[in-house]
Amino acid sequence: MPASEPIADLRQRLEQLNQLEDDRTLAKKTGRSALNSEALMESLRANMLLGVLSHHDRLRSRGRRSIAEVRHGVCSGCHMSLPTGLQAEVQRESTLLKCETCGRFILSAADAVEPPLPAKIPQSPKRAKN
Ligand SMILES: [Zn+2]
Repeated sequence: MPASEPIADLRQRLEQLNQLEDDRTLAKKTGRSALNSEALMESLRANMLLGVLSHHDRLRSRGRRSIAEVRHGVCSGCHMSLPTGLQAEVQRESTLLKCETCGRFILSAADAVEPPLPAKIPQSPKRAKN
């Protein structure tokens, strides 16, 4: 059995993969080349658990993103309220969960745990796009 991955790591990679695939779709429409993202996408996919990846692909094939955030107990993908037990599990972030209605992987919204102070996180110039 593979050791369970930190959920935050998995979440980040799923988000990145969704974003890259959205970019690629857009690139195809506009005739732009998306060569750089292809390599990155491949490496993300190569490191994804098979079960997660196949579910992701199923959702993508229907034109959906494979992840949705949960805000105030509501799935941002289908806007349905989640059962209380599932909401609590999402908050715990111990495992990757799926919405019972739309099937997306659900994760608690990052901004749900905003710090009370309006301190700005400095943006690193290293993470510029491209
Ligand atoms: Zn949903």
